[in-house]
Amino acid sequence: SLLDKFPRYPLTFGKTPIEQLPRLSEALGGGIEIYAKREDCNSGLAMGGNKLRKLEYIVPDAIASGADTLVSIGGVQSNHTRMVAATAAKLGMGCVVVQEKWVPHYDAVYDRVGNIMMTRLMGADSRLVEDGFDIGIRKSWEDAIQSVKDRGGKPYAIPAGASVHKYGALGYIGFAEEVAEQEKELGFTFDYIVVCVVTGSTQAGMIVGFAAQDRADRVIGIDASGTPEQTRAQVREIADNAAKLVELGRGIREDEIVINEDYAYPAYGVPSEETNEAIRLAARTEAMITDPVYEGKSMQGLIDLTKKGFFPEGSKVLYAHLGGAPALNGYSYYYREG
Ligand code: PLP
Repeated sequence: SLLDKFPRYPLTFGKTPIEQLPRLSEALGGGIEIYAKREDCNSGLAMGGNKLRKLEYIVPDAIASGADTLVSIGGVQSNHTRMVAATAAKLGMGCVVVQEKWVPHYDAVYDRVGNIMMTRLMGADSRLVEDGFDIGIRKSWEDAIQSVKDRGGKPYAIPAGASVHKYGALGYIGFAEEVAEQEKELGFTFDYIVVCVVTGSTQAGMIVGFAAQDRADRVIGIDASGTPEQTRAQVREIADNAAKLVELGRGIREDEIVINEDYAYPAYGVPSEETNEAIRLAARTEAMITDPVYEGKSMQGLIDLTKKGFFPEGSKVLYAHLGGAPALNGYSYYYREG
């Protein structure tokens, strides 16, 4: 494994299940076979999700640093800050999370339910600030780090999405290795992997991991950021750094970074009518719940690309379900009638 020399602190149950989705495949014409790898069911910690796979390789560094408080940042309905709060609770550390106004919303309870409610329940100091959406490093985040120091604590800073961190991509390199192991058990290989991309280390890790198997160009990123140039640049930077870190032995080619920009509209955190139809279809055919911010958009991409014939007849497509369902609670307005 590319990861042998990196310490891992277990936060997940282990390998995530791969589930076939026959009714969804059939609803899309039956020409391809769709499967889901259920990263959304990966842990007992506060409903799980992709961040835990990343945090497993970041926690050893946090512990080694002698930190007593994890500090991070995200939107009001951030899954990432929920997962950092969960990790801190599990480790017995303090937690400060800055929650920015990344998304316009209709629901009156948006800043009280779902992710932020669980974050608060787990004892994190959740600080709402006025800044808008940006996946980069922010002043409010630096202020939060300083505030921990000012009270005599030792902060450990984890950037948005646990992405621009030295070890942020390792977890999803492990995902690629895990898929290869599961393919042996299944007796076939997947032709494509579809994954949502915003802060970038999920896809970047997959790219490096699948590059070692010479099929990184089969990882189809579906942008949900609405700022695809920034996301692409961040995936490139994270993948380059991770390839060096794990000694992949070669660089990542431009054709190995595949990001489709067509489904993020109208904006980050705002579902289109097509996003909501995708969420309904996955729910009604497979009882697989996706959210309006992330997986609803990658589901929309999967559905639309399938309908357009992007995947050749007979393809086996693996949809990486990265989590995110708790945010639905802040979007009830869209689903009053289902
Ligand atoms: N899906 C969910 C549920 C997420 O919480 C995130 C986090 O940003 C993503 C997808 C995108 O992953 P990444 O930020 O690593 O690109």
